[in-house]
This record gives sequence, structure tokens and C-alpha cells, in this order.
Amino acid sequence: MATRRQRIISLLEERDYSPSELARLLDLRGKGATKAVLEDLKAIQRILKREGKVLLIKPAECKNCGFVFKPEIKIPTKCPRCKSEWIEEPRFKIEKK
Ligand SMILES: [Zn+2]
Repeated sequence: MATRRQRIISLLEERDYSPSELARLLDLRGKGATKAVLEDLKAIQRILKREGKVLLIKPAECKNCGFVFKPEIKIPTKCPRCKSEWIEEPRFKIEKK
């Protein structure tokens, strides 16, 4: 039985996913679901680093004004430019060597 982190790694080796998409695929529910995925992604980033692989981050974006956030493992709640809360989540993928 693969651990949740191992499952996330195999998913991200195939294509990119947002934290909400991963939570849904892993059957995580409730408020803490995406938060748990973000914690896993941080751990995965450290694991990959040791293996010489890279976690690619497509940064979050404001769907109202197009502001692009920093490529970070978190989901911003509010746009610093237009104050909109309509935010496209960041997307993650594992770079194939
Ligand atoms: Zn904005």
C-alpha cells in the first residue's frame, strides 16, 4: 500500500495538478484537505531535492486581474493588486529527468 505522498509523487510524474484536484483524487475531504496536500507537497519537495529532482510550480494567478503570485507551495486567499478573492490555485508537477 503506497503512502499518500508516494501516490502524489506518481500522479505528479504524469501531469500537473492543483492542490484541490489532488485532494479530490486522494479522497480527502473537508476544510483541512488542501492544507494536508500542501504539507505533503512541501515534504515531497524536500524528498525530490535529495534525489536531484525538481517540483515544478506554476504560480497561483488572480482570475480577476491576472496578477501572478510567487511560485510557492501555498494557496493565496486574496490578490494584493485588486483585492479579489477569485484566485486560480498554483499547479504542481515533477520534472522528468
Ligand atoms: Zn487581482
